[in-house]
Amino acid sequence: MENKKDPKSFIKTLNPKAHGETAFGGCDTCTLCCDGSTYTCANVLLDEMFDTAKLFPVVFSKTDENLSLTLLYTLKRGIPCPYLEKETGACEVYDSIRPRACKIYPFNIKEIPSVQLDNTAYAVVFDSRCPGIVEGGEDGTKLIGQDGKLSPKITRQFIGENMLRRYKTNLANTRKFLKLVKDLDLLVETEYDLGEPLSMVGYYGQNLSLKIWRISRKKLLELDADAVMEIHRHQFFDAVYTHLNSLRNLDNLVKVKKIYDQNRVDLLSFHF
Ligand code: SF4
Ligand code: SF4
Repeated sequence: MENKKDPKSFIKTLNPKAHGETAFGGCDTCTLCCDGSTYTCANVLLDEMFDTAKLFPVVFSKTDENLSLTLLYTLKRGIPCPYLEKETGACEVYDSIRPRACKIYPFNIKEIPSVQLDNTAYAVVFDSRCPGIVEGGEDGTKLIGQDGKLSPKITRQFIGENMLRRYKTNLANTRKFLKLVKDLDLLVETEYDLGEPLSMVGYYGQNLSLKIWRISRKKLLELDADAVMEIHRHQFFDAVYTHLNSLRNLDNLVKVKKIYDQNRVDLLSFHF
């Protein structure tokens, strides 16, 4: 039985043997992917960060092995993205600069390291929580085409013809940026106070503060000339300041959270 507390267990790697009868029946605007019940954040690659940062905070996520760029949709599970129109279920930024993760949902691309180091493969994954994903749906579009690959219709609708080629280049450039940020030791962890405690205890517990990794302006100013030239040489200064400016969008998320806290809205509208 799947573990309902672990969102990763719902993400399936598309596989011709297992998903020959799986189809996409269309989006019924249930808003599950925007209302904070399934996602609170998404990974971002460097070239998409410039648009995404106009709408959302783009911060650094750090684990022992990994550093990545992450956009924050919301500060707490169950609180919707600020661009979701609750009444209509529409996305306010649908036709402009929706993040890539939104455009291709319920699909995504996952990197699969190969034993041959120079031959990394990529797989399409899908989120089985999306009600548009159906088993044996006669009216839907089968995810796997007759050639055993992602169906051309799904490719056109979601992934785009050149997405994979752009994805590989973009991922390599993103990694270069993250490596430089790490090598120059530019990151600091910052804790933001999120205000009043909630009256109800959430499924995922209360989070009254938010810890994020961001570039330190102080560390930037203290860089020596060689380090500054290194950032210039890779043309990464735009990315550095885009990230820093995007932190203003945290205010927007704090405002939405306060509205939800004050109205005692049911924060836990799980659909499954
Ligand atoms: S979860 Fe699926 S069906 Fe619901 S709004 Fe998102 S894409 Fe549409
Ligand atoms: S930007 Fe639009 S599509 Fe993306 S989570 Fe927000 S409301 Fe949904």
